[in-house]
Amino acid sequence: MDSAHVEHDLVNVLFTEAQIQARLKEMAAQIEQDYEGEELLIVGILRGAVMVMADLARSFTRHLEMDWMAVTSYGSGTKSSGVVRILKDLDTDISGRHVVIVDEIIDTGLTLSWLTSNLTSRNPASVEIATLLRKPEALQMPVDVKYVGWDIPNEFVVGYGLDYREKYRNLRDIGTLAPHVYS
Ligand code: 5GP
Ligand code: MG
Ligand code: MG
Repeated sequence: MDSAHVEHDLVNVLFTEAQIQARLKEMAAQIEQDYEGEELLIVGILRGAVMVMADLARSFTRHLEMDWMAVTSYGSGTKSSGVVRILKDLDTDISGRHVVIVDEIIDTGLTLSWLTSNLTSRNPASVEIATLLRKPEALQMPVDVKYVGWDIPNEFVVGYGLDYREKYRNLRDIGTLAPHVYS
């Protein structure tokens, strides 16, 4: 057995590659329907949303544009503080545009809450949020998430863009890490 194989560190697979692809297809179909006849810009939040963006975008059967933002949230350890700094801004002027922010997971919701008001101040036609995963704590934040893949328990998950210390983003499935990884 090759212990360098990243899949071996997953103790519990929550969502397989096939489940993720199927859910993204449903989400894309829903978004397509909601924005019928409109031009749409989807904005991926680096770096976690790279996989979701790539697969969600390819599930669309219509034209869309893609742009990216990178933000950092000052916080202690694994919790974000809500104080956000833009590391890479949009290349697109979004005034008058319909925008869907695409993220991989919402935990406290602080980052997306900040981001939504930031983008709203640029006078877009509309701003909505699509996230693959959402944790229960996010439900307590005043952030209106229109498209959610799945609500998940309050566990730390990795894979499919989600990292632990910058690793595991390249896993095709999403799951929880074996305890030995943390020790
Ligand atoms: P929040 O919604 O708390 O402002 O921030 C969400 C961000 O926290 C995500 O984009 C992600 O980077 C990180 N995060 C939250 N929960 C998890 C998790 O379970 N696993 C991983 N890998 N990152 C998480
Ligand atoms: Mg993210
Ligand atoms: Mg991270």
